[in-house]
Amino acid sequence: MSERTIAAISTPIGEGGIAVIRISGDNAIEIANKCFSAFSGKKLSDLDGYQALYGEITDSGDVIDDAVALVFRAPKSYTGEDVVEISVHGGRIMAKRALRAILNCGAVSAVGGEFTKRAFLNGKLDLTKAESIMELISAKNDTALKISRLARSGRISKEIQKITEKLLETAANLAVFADYPDEDIPELSNDNFSKLLNECENVLKKLISGYDTGRAVREGIDCVIVGKPNVGKSTLMNLLCGSERSIVTDVAGTTRDIIENTVNLGDITLNLADTAGIRNTDDIVEKMGVERATQRLDTAGIIFAVFDSSDDLDENDKKLIEQIKSRRAIVILNKSDLKEKLSEENFKGFDVIKISAKSGDGLKELEEKVAKLTDTGRLSGDEAVLISERQRDCVVKALNCVSEAKSALVSGVTLDAVGVCIDDAVSALLELTGKRVTNEVTDEVFRRFCVGK
Ligand code: GDP
Repeated sequence: MSERTIAAISTPIGEGGIAVIRISGDNAIEIANKCFSAFSGKKLSDLDGYQALYGEITDSGDVIDDAVALVFRAPKSYTGEDVVEISVHGGRIMAKRALRAILNCGAVSAVGGEFTKRAFLNGKLDLTKAESIMELISAKNDTALKISRLARSGRISKEIQKITEKLLETAANLAVFADYPDEDIPELSNDNFSKLLNECENVLKKLISGYDTGRAVREGIDCVIVGKPNVGKSTLMNLLCGSERSIVTDVAGTTRDIIENTVNLGDITLNLADTAGIRNTDDIVEKMGVERATQRLDTAGIIFAVFDSSDDLDENDKKLIEQIKSRRAIVILNKSDLKEKLSEENFKGFDVIKISAKSGDGLKELEEKVAKLTDTGRLSGDEAVLISERQRDCVVKALNCVSEAKSALVSGVTLDAVGVCIDDAVSALLELTGKRVTNEVTDEVFRRFCVGK
């Protein structure tokens, strides 16, 4: 238990139905008792856990607001300590005044992530679950929410525990084998050790590849819309944004700079950029726009290459086809509502879809194609998905150690040396879940949290 009793507003600052101020620590109930009086005359200190009282919150005798105070008794609370949550009417000033009243009674202001850090230190959750809470709060789409909920429920921890147990079993068998090399037990053979290490290696590799897909889902995929002028890029941008974000005209070269917006296409968040039409031009401003559009092709996670299907391919279109070859691109044949002059035949080797940006026809197909290309479908099951760069680093470290152990086994060095590599892999995995972790790492994890969480 910490000697400091902390308090913070746990709901967003602004107007709302209610605001909640959370107090946690040894003196939480005593402090709340000083500034909260129940209309029934009961005291918060008389309550069991999960019980609430209705009353008013006061500061030096001045009534601030009606309030509900909910008591949680240690260890059955979010932080594992005594906790009181006081709900007042929502509003910037109201919540701050109520917090001030609580601080005046002896609590100190919590710093970012301090409630969750206490939960971690009190063994209420491991580091992967703590990190998942940040992700839950900031989820931009349903898949991101699902990934963080799975992590919150312990999916990552379980997967890591399984590999850790397998590695520990291998290390134990190695030790027995080193002591009794002549025993004829099938488990105690180089073949079996290699098999176990291979299994661990595969799981670790899968976790690493899943992280990249998960990150794309959580942070959004950078998507650039390119094509020569007038093919309908801005109309497509507006369709995806559901609003007039880009200017749509019949005049070629209207979009000179890059227009950006974040949109959800099905379960995928796209950080969209509508670019100047790529074509040869002498106009100096348009030329700069074209250069910027071309640069974006290099950095985009996915390219929407738009062509006017009611027109023949010209030199600008052909140049674009060259530019998007071997990149992750979807060829969008727009204006499908008009008479067709272009078809899939003109774009062999590409993922092609037909749409009408004007009417919205074909949007579903675009959504499916994006999901396929970004491999986000793999996240629809209950696969464990790593959710932070820190977790990925630990898995990469563990994978390197397992690979080293495998090579050591093959090269015939002493079994002790193989055991050391396995121990290092286990250490990396224990750091991931926080079972064996330095204060610096813990501080770094909670530094990213907001106050009140
Ligand atoms: P951009 O220069 O590539 O951004 O093209 P715009 O979005 O400004 O569109 C150019 C012209 O094509 C405008 O007159 C649009 O109304 C028209 N347009 C865009 N998409 C479609 C479509 O799907 N069908 C039809 N018939 N016209 C479209």
